Amino acid sequence: MRIEYDIKLGFKDVMFRPKRSTLKSRSEVSLERQFKFLHSPETWTGIPIIAANMDTVGTFEMAKALSEKKLFTAIHKHYNLNDWRNFASTLTNETSDFIAVSTGIGESDSEKLSKIIQQNPNIKFICIDVANGYSEHFANFVKQTRELYPEKVIIAGNVVTGEMVEELLLCGADIIKVGIGPGSVCTTRVKTGVGYPQLSAIIECADAAHGLGGQIISDGGCTTPGDIAKAFGAGADFVMLGGMLAGHDESGGKIIEKNGKTYKQFYGMSSSTAMEKHVGGVAEYRASEGKTVEVLYKGAVEHTLQDILGGIRSTCTYVGASRLKELTKRTTFIRVNEQENKIYSK
Ligand code: 5GP
Repeated sequence: MRIEYDIKLGFKDVMFRPKRSTLKSRSEVSLERQFKFLHSPETWTGIPIIAANMDTVGTFEMAKALSEKKLFTAIHKHYNLNDWRNFASTLTNETSDFIAVSTGIGESDSEKLSKIIQQNPNIKFICIDVANGYSEHFANFVKQTRELYPEKVIIAGNVVTGEMVEELLLCGADIIKVGIGPGSVCTTRVKTGVGYPQLSAIIECADAAHGLGGQIISDGGCTTPGDIAKAFGAGADFVMLGGMLAGHDESGGKIIEKNGKTYKQFYGMSSSTAMEKHVGGVAEYRASEGKTVEVLYKGAVEHTLQDILGGIRSTCTYVGASRLKELTKRTTFIRVNEQENKIYSK
C-alpha cells in the first residue's frame, strides 16, 4: 500500500484570480476553437462544449439545438438503426459536424457502429465510452477502431491519469475523455471508493495529452457556468455536460408533474433505471453506479446555453483572454475555502 500526499483539487477548491485586461466587453470574446487531431486528418471548428452521451441528454433533438450554436453532442448509444435512419433523413451537413456516434466495446457494439457509419459516412466523430478505461480489452478496442476508421476522430474514455491518457493516444485515440466519479448522477465514488478530483485530473491529463499532440474532454462534475470556465482554465480542450443540460425540451426522460411543478427524470447510464430500460435489469455481478433524480423542467435549452456562454465570456474578460484558447494561459487559480454566499439560497 502507498499513499500520495499531494492534495488533489476539485472545482469547489479554486477560483480565478482576476487580471488586468484591455477587453472592453464580453462581446469581444470568442469562444470558438479550431482543432487539428493527432491521428485523424479532419479539422473541427466550434464551441467545445459537448452534451453527454446519456439517453436523457445526448439526444437527436439536443444535437439539432446545440449544432445551431456550434456546440457538440455525443449521441447516446441506445438509438437503433431505424432511429438513426430517420434522423439521418433530416441531418444537414452542419449538424453532422457536431455529433459523435457513441459505442461500447462489445462485439454487437462494433457491428452497430459500422452500420451507423455506413449509413452516415459524413459523421466524423466516434466516442468509445466505458466507465473504466483502464482495461486492456478497452485499449485493444481503441486500436481496432483506429485501424477500421483511419479518417475518423476517435474519442476514448474514461480515465483520470496521465499514463493512461498517453497509452490511449498511442493506441489511436485523438481525444481522451477524463473523469471518474465526479458526475451529478454518479455513485462510483460511494460504491467503489475509486475516483479523482476533477480539476486535478484535468490539469494532469491535459499536460499528458498536449505533450503528445492530443486533446482531452473534461467529463462530469460541472454544476455552474463557473465550473465549466474552471475546466477550460485548467486545460480542458472540451467540456462535457450531463446534468446542466438535463430537464430541457430537447432532453430525454419522462415528464413528472408534482405539487403543481413540472420535473423531468434524469438518471445515470449505469443506474438501475437505465439498466432496466436498456438491458432488462441490473446484472447479478454488478451494482448500479448511478442515481435517478427529478430535475426541475427548464424549457428550451437555448436559454441555458446563453447563460453558460455568457458566464464563460465573462470569465475571459475578468482574466483578459480575448479567445477561449487563451484562457488557460491567463489562468491563475487561488485555493479557497469558500464559494458562493448562500445567505439567500433556499
Ligand atoms: P454531469 O455533467 O451530470 O456532472 O456528469 C455527466 C457524466 O457523468 C457523463 O458524461 C458520464 O461520464 C457520467 N455518468 C453518467 N451516468 C453515469 C452513471 O450511471 N454512473 C457513473 N459512474 N457515471 C455516470
